Formats: sequence, structure tokens, C-alpha cells
Amino acid sequence: MSTKQNQKFEVATQLTKLGRDPAEQFGFVNAPLYKGSTVIYKTMDDLEHRRSRFTYGTAGTPTIANLEDAWTQLSGAAGTVLAPSGLGAVVLALLSTTKAGDHILMPDSVYRPTRNFCNGMLARYGVHTTYYDPMMGAKIEGLVQPETSTIFLEAPGSQTLEVQDVPAIVAVARKHGVKTIIDNTWATPVFFKAHEHGVDLSVEAGTKYLGGHSDILLGLVSANAESWPALRATYDSMAMLPGADDCVLALRGMRTLHLRLKEAERRGLEMAQWLQARPEVSRVLHPAFESCPGHENWKRDFKGASGLFSIILKPGYGQQDLAKMLDGMSIFGMGFSWGGYESLIIPFDCGQYRTVTSWKPEGLALRLQIGLEDVEDLKQDLEQGFARLGSA
Ligand SMILES: *Cc1c(COP(=O)(O)O)cnc(C)c1O
Repeated sequence: MSTKQNQKFEVATQLTKLGRDPAEQFGFVNAPLYKGSTVIYKTMDDLEHRRSRFTYGTAGTPTIANLEDAWTQLSGAAGTVLAPSGLGAVVLALLSTTKAGDHILMPDSVYRPTRNFCNGMLARYGVHTTYYDPMMGAKIEGLVQPETSTIFLEAPGSQTLEVQDVPAIVAVARKHGVKTIIDNTWATPVFFKAHEHGVDLSVEAGTKYLGGHSDILLGLVSANAESWPALRATYDSMAMLPGADDCVLALRGMRTLHLRLKEAERRGLEMAQWLQARPEVSRVLHPAFESCPGHENWKRDFKGASGLFSIILKPGYGQQDLAKMLDGMSIFGMGFSWGGYESLIIPFDCGQYRTVTSWKPEGLALRLQIGLEDVEDLKQDLEQGFARLGSA
């Protein structure tokens, strides 16, 4: 399917059509799985000129190309490369926009392993990072230096869900010839079209909603026309690819991505509303709620909300109370990652590592991922948990 044909269709339709072509697949609905290193050339001349749609396994296979093309069209990008994890995709994007001596700007709310990469490896290669308040918007201009090559964004922020003013930050970046990268994992291109908002590179942890079943690790980076050649060259120089089976699972996940995201949104909102009314809960940090920093930005720029949000408990509960609550949950599991079919809950305290903003909430903080279980069962599980938490 060509881009032009697809743009006539709504995103739900696009997701069912992208990355497959029954006419090329003996009529079968789904594309076959290609695994491979060696590609055979017909003649010596073909070999010398690499005259073949696919030249070698590291440069791509039909399976990889199907996923790349589908994501490119879904994202409205010029091209996409894949990585074996979401963190790998963050790293690829950053390596494509930086060189020794550069300076980059990172939101203080960034996914913690991204922070670790900047402070460790990037610093070692001579790239200096300044962290910024994710809610500073256009004031970020005051932090741009002559060596600044990249402004990184993550909207909403990890754990605390601050929704950044993407257009304001992009405008500053463009004025100064600085590249922008966004970690768009929470919204996915279904709920936030990063490139339409002027962002140069968009990163997705396909591990989360694209996979959707907690059984793959995958990353994707899409780029606009200006940033695409450097991204592709960075990818080609390392050839860190996901396995073919995981690409097929991602393509399968894509078919139901819209359905699952809409359902995650509905359940997430219902659970967040229920939690907001609980006497144990002080605040809900969900981009669709006014109590979430950047709610106005979400309302203006996003088409929906996924099923991941946080809550702050009322003051007075201790770690031991919380352990009683969480150790006894029957449906909610404690574990990292999200975007699967199962509900998760974890405590967090980002005050330990943020450096330019202070995180001093009035009570203990919890992050919830709402899965596909019955919502009344989920409420009951939390209600029983709150009973174990005791009274503040
Ligand atoms: C999970 C996550 C990643 C990393 O994805 P992995 O596949 O687990 O490496 C990156 N960014 C955000 C915002 C995430 O939530």
C-alpha cells in the first residue's frame, strides 16, 4: 500500500492494512516470516553492484521492511529503523544527532535508563547533558548553547506524567537549528503524531503497546526527511536488529493496537476516576485530569490517553503499610514495563535521582497500568489493598 492510498483511511483502518500485501503472499492475509543472513545474487555483476532489493540480513529482510514501512506510514515519517529494545531505540536516536563536544538537553522527567545512558556512555564520548524542567516550555531557550545539538522530550514524563509543551519546545529548537527527539512510548503515533508537531525523531518502545502482550522487547525510531539519512546511517553502522519472530509479533500486535489503546484509555479513565474518589488517594496524575501538570497541553495536542498513570496517596502511610497493601494483591502484579494485557502496580520515588526539579509529594506515589481484566474485579483488588494499607 502506498502512503497516498493509506492517508485516505482512518488510523484504525491503516493499522489493519499496513506492512502486508496479500497479492505478494499467495493470497494469504499475513506476510511470511523471513529469517536470514545470506542473500544470493544471480550474476557477478549483480553482486558487485549489490543489485538486489535486500543485500544482506543486517541491512534488512522483507519481515523487517514490513514493520519499518508500516511504522513509517503510521507515523507520517520519512523512514523508520528498528532496535532490539525501547532503550536501544533511544540510544540509536541520540547517537544519530550527537558527536563529541555536543551538548544536549534532557527533561528531568525522562525514563531513567535514558538518563543513565546520557550520564554514562554519552558523557564518556564527550557529549554533555543538561537536565531541564519538563514544564518550562519556551523558556528552554535560555538553556540552548552554541554546542547544543539535541533537545530530547518525553511526553508525558516517566512516572510523574508531566505533559510537555511540544510545539513551544520544537519552535525554540528550530530557531536554533537544534534537533528534537521525543520518547512517544506512552501515546504511540495513534494518540500523538510527533512529526506533525514538528518533532524530528520519534522513539517508541514497541515492547509496550505495540507488542501488547509482554512477550517481546522491541524499539522503533521514525524520522522526518531531514533527520532520516543520519538515522539510517547510524543504524547501518551498528546493525543492532530485533529478531524476525519479534517483528512478526509486533506486526500482529499492530492489527489490534487501535482497539487495545481505546480500551486501555476507557479502563484507565474509569479506574483513575474511581481512585480519585477514594479517601486514601490525594491526587491522580493522569494527563486527562486537571490535577496532572501539562493537562492543557495534552488536551490541545493528543488524541487520547493510554492506560498508564500514577496516584499520590494521602500523607501518613508508611513503607510497611504499603508493603502490606502491595504484597497481598491478587490481580495487580508488581513489575516493570507496561502496555500488556495485565494490570500492574509499583511504588516509585523519583526524588532520589531528579536533579533540577524537586519531587516532594505529600504522600507515597504509585504507578498503575490498567490491563484488560474486568474493571470491577480490579476495583475490588484495590479496595482490599486499601483495607490492608490501614488508616493514615
Ligand atoms: C519501557 C520504556 C522504554 C524502554 O523500553 P524497553 O524495551 O523496555 O527497553 C523507553 N522509554 C519509555 C518511556 C519506556 O516506558
